[in-house]
Amino acid sequence: MKRILIAGAGHGGLAAGALLAKRGFDVTVIERNKREDLGHDWEDRFTFSLLCNLLGCDEAALPAGCWRYRGDCAFVSPAKRKRVVIRYTAKNRQRIMWRKPLIGLLLDHAQAQGVKFLFETRVKGPAVRNGRVTGLETDAGTLSADLVIDAAGVFSPVRMSLPEGYGIEKEPKYGDLFYACRAYYDRLPGHPDPEAPFEVYLYHEGERGLSWFCTNEDSCDVLIGRTDPLTEEKIAEQLAIFRESHPWLGQTVLHGGQMGVIPVRRPLTLLVGDGYAAVGDSAFMTTPMNGMGIDLSLQAGRLLAETVAAKRETDFSAADLWDYNRAFHRLYGGDAAKNEGLKNALLSLPPGGVDFLFEAEVIQSSDLAGAGKNTKLSALLGKFARGMKQPASFFTILGGLIKGAKAAKLYQNAPARFDREAIRRWSEKIAALDVRLEQ
Ligand SMILES: Cc1cc2nc3c(=O)[nH]c(=O)nc-3n(C[C@H](O)[C@H](O)[C@H](O)COP(=O)(O)OP(=O)(O)OC[C@H]3O[C@@H](n4cnc5c(N)ncnc54)[C@H](O)[C@@H]3O)c2cc1C
Repeated sequence: MKRILIAGAGHGGLAAGALLAKRGFDVTVIERNKREDLGHDWEDRFTFSLLCNLLGCDEAALPAGCWRYRGDCAFVSPAKRKRVVIRYTAKNRQRIMWRKPLIGLLLDHAQAQGVKFLFETRVKGPAVRNGRVTGLETDAGTLSADLVIDAAGVFSPVRMSLPEGYGIEKEPKYGDLFYACRAYYDRLPGHPDPEAPFEVYLYHEGERGLSWFCTNEDSCDVLIGRTDPLTEEKIAEQLAIFRESHPWLGQTVLHGGQMGVIPVRRPLTLLVGDGYAAVGDSAFMTTPMNGMGIDLSLQAGRLLAETVAAKRETDFSAADLWDYNRAFHRLYGGDAAKNEGLKNALLSLPPGGVDFLFEAEVIQSSDLAGAGKNTKLSALLGKFARGMKQPASFFTILGGLIKGAKAAKLYQNAPARFDREAIRRWSEKIAALDVRLEQ
């Protein structure tokens, strides 16, 4: 029986593991935390049908109390002069679920399919023999496997120590990460509900990044996020500013209160190597504009399981796993690359440039609701006319969109077969279309 080790109980790893254990593979997840400590203490937005599809259950069967609808959303410009409000309908209302029950559902399901778990065991890096990944080095010793699935998150020690010959990017670059601190505070009585409960502040207080303030019935969910690492002083300063504008923000932390890091960039071009495949944050699979990674992780897990099951008689070389790489980029990698171009172009503007784009309605509610994915020609022409009132800012955005669109096309048209030379040339073309942030 083929043995698969999954580094970290990330969403994509749990999804792939469950599907592969069901198909007769010997699957073990190595997770550094205790089972009960898994998952952040906050709520996340993702597509519930993807989860239910994987679990094989109806959405109505999701445990009561683990999810709810989030209210209307207001995007606030850097100078706070303009608010773009998105009114959701019964059809497109955003649903959010607490992270712990989400991970719990995925874990229970994986276990029911036959996945084994080694909790409280730290992965130190890949085990490598003759330049090939042959398992994992852990603090419980060396474990061997036919295939390692890397679901250990953005700072995966497996990805960061892969053999050089794999050609897989190891370290994120400046601007690739979003540092966030999120906490739910008590809500003080005596203040009316805001016009839109979920307020998102772009370039909050003139700094690269965003923050949000969500007024719930019984709490205030505050996220402070930046492109540069956060310090305790910065968080205290930003909370004090929020307390002035939102006097209903209490002092008691009800949930969360931790820091988190999200990759907000295009995914790795190479997701596979001999005996190795990456899913989720370890492969930088998020929508860069909003940092959502759960959907993409689950989708990657499903695609990887399909490829692995189809190639079960092979030794899982990079060539055998290439179908997964190709399918992911065709379906999702291209969109993420396009989105990264827009995100980095926006972040390379001074805050005043972003204010202009808001005030001249170059950025509209449809762009914000779709995380920058709405690119209809008629809408773009209108934007062009309005944007030309401040050409420098407008052309920066246009440049980001064009580079992103070109990179997207390359992602969507990866070489059909695993030919190292063709893949090297393809990766280089993609790298040349990078929209980089200056530090
Ligand atoms: C504040 C915040 C808000 C977010 N909101 C959303 C949202 O609303 N919607 C959304 O889709 N996404 C959201 N995300 C992003 C989302 O968390 C990730 O994209 C998603 O979890 C996919 O990551 P993953 O499962 O691959 O990795 P992770 O969630 O990072 O899981 C990795 C796992 O590997 C384990 N691990 C790491 N290192 C080791 C090691 N050395 N040994 C053993 N185990 C190890 C970790 O303990 C963890 O269990 C948010 C992130 C943050 C920080």
